[in-house]
Amino acid sequence: MPKKFSVQIIGGGLAGCEAAWFLANKGIGVKLYEMRPKVSTAIHQSGFLGELVCSNSFKNLSLNHASGILKAEMKKFDSLVMQVANQSTIEGGTSLIVDRETFMMKMNEMIINHPLIEVIREEVVSLDLQEYTIVCSGPLTSDALFHYLAKNIIKSAEEDLYFYDAVAPIVKLSSIDLNLAYYKARYDKGVASYLNCPLSKDEYKIFYEALISAKLANNHPFDRVYEGCLPVEVLAKRGYEALLYGPLKPVGLEINHQRPEAVIQLRQDDFHKSLYNIVGFQTSLAFKEQERVLKLVPALRNVEIIRYGVYHRNTYINSPKILSNYQSKEFPKLFFAGQITGVEGYLESASSGILAASYLYSYLKTKAIIPLSRNTIMGGLANYLNCPNQTFVPMHANFMLVEEEVSIKKRDLRNQFYYERSIQQIDEYLERIGRLS
Ligand SMILES: Cc1cc2nc3c(=O)[nH]c(=O)nc-3n(C[C@H](O)[C@H](O)[C@H](O)COP(=O)(O)OP(=O)(O)OC[C@H]3O[C@@H](n4cnc5c(N)ncnc54)[C@H](O)[C@@H]3O)c2cc1C
Repeated sequence: MPKKFSVQIIGGGLAGCEAAWFLANKGIGVKLYEMRPKVSTAIHQSGFLGELVCSNSFKNLSLNHASGILKAEMKKFDSLVMQVANQSTIEGGTSLIVDRETFMMKMNEMIINHPLIEVIREEVVSLDLQEYTIVCSGPLTSDALFHYLAKNIIKSAEEDLYFYDAVAPIVKLSSIDLNLAYYKARYDKGVASYLNCPLSKDEYKIFYEALISAKLANNHPFDRVYEGCLPVEVLAKRGYEALLYGPLKPVGLEINHQRPEAVIQLRQDDFHKSLYNIVGFQTSLAFKEQERVLKLVPALRNVEIIRYGVYHRNTYINSPKILSNYQSKEFPKLFFAGQITGVEGYLESASSGILAASYLYSYLKTKAIIPLSRNTIMGGLANYLNCPNQTFVPMHANFMLVEEEVSIKKRDLRNQFYYERSIQQIDEYLERIGRLS
């Protein structure tokens, strides 16, 4: 089949891979530019497309959660991330957890083997605005592209275009004391796949004092953090109990009928169960300090850290100002998708790649965008980016995004209604998109 490359996609992360997959499966040739491994970001660890930068969790599977419905919506679009996640699953109770290595190797393989996708390993530093383009360069967009976008496309002060974010450490299972740690799912719901490290009242006090006084890796400004994913030390500084109601919450994790004062949870990171990542423990502490503080947890006193937590700039644009339905208001051939648009999270980023590609596709065919109903999570997220908002902050999947709330009182029944309505709207949408080919 002769290759005709009509669309270029910048960035081979979750959004870029999904966008390329969607378009290529519609018969549109795609040039996918990815700068790794030649040029890396401060966080990525490999040259694989679709790398997961921090946790290996795609969150809740239940259709009672917005995140579960988002997964169902993505499957309707034949999402590549959902296909590959399902082939890479490891035990995660009520959540969809993947073996990180397998996930990204498969993502990479699926994309490079697609006959209508050409992967070009190059850093993009400027855009050809005459070409159909989707920018999916993510929260870690390279400096050169960041400056180009700020000056030429977004035309905004660079300080408006980022916040700070961090990743959590990954540790070796063999270095955890399994006489002190225990497997249990919160409230015993689902399989007991989380490893829990308990702290008594006195142990928590010592741990807490060490955490709030530990040295940071650099003098990062803490005024620009994302409330939904605060570094553990930033959250701790808000009060002695902040962690106890947050990532170290002991409720539902009782052992021998006793509730510890606090619990640090670890989640399996690979198929072989040799690596675990620390849930909610994203941090910007100096490496030695991460080790020192974690070793104050009895079950972690000999812990070996395989990947340290790190802190980084997280770029996003002021979408309501410059985009409408993922399309640039000023340059109609230019689209954006992924975390750079202000959606927040792996699946939110991936799903926005699908929808932006679908919007580009309808624009390519008809010179108009066919928008997805706002009564879906994907459509609701896209709409959130359209709405002028004084303090535009990144947004994850939630039920407040859907257009028409319903007055069904029982939560389960209400969410069931949201799910069914959402799937019906997506079926109708896909039928309309299908008629364009
Ligand atoms: C530090 C950190 C931790 C995070 N942790 C989580 C988490 O645990 N769970 C979660 O749900 N979400 C997390 N997120 C948020 C978000 O879900 C992820 O960043 C997700 O990977 C975003 O997907 P994306 O496709 O938009 O960007 P990415 O997956 O980062 O993909 C962007 C791609 O573009 C490439 N690129 C960048 N600039 C250029 C250029 N100039 N030319 C060519 N290629 C370029 C990059 O190399 C990268 O491969 C985290 C974000 C950050 C920054």
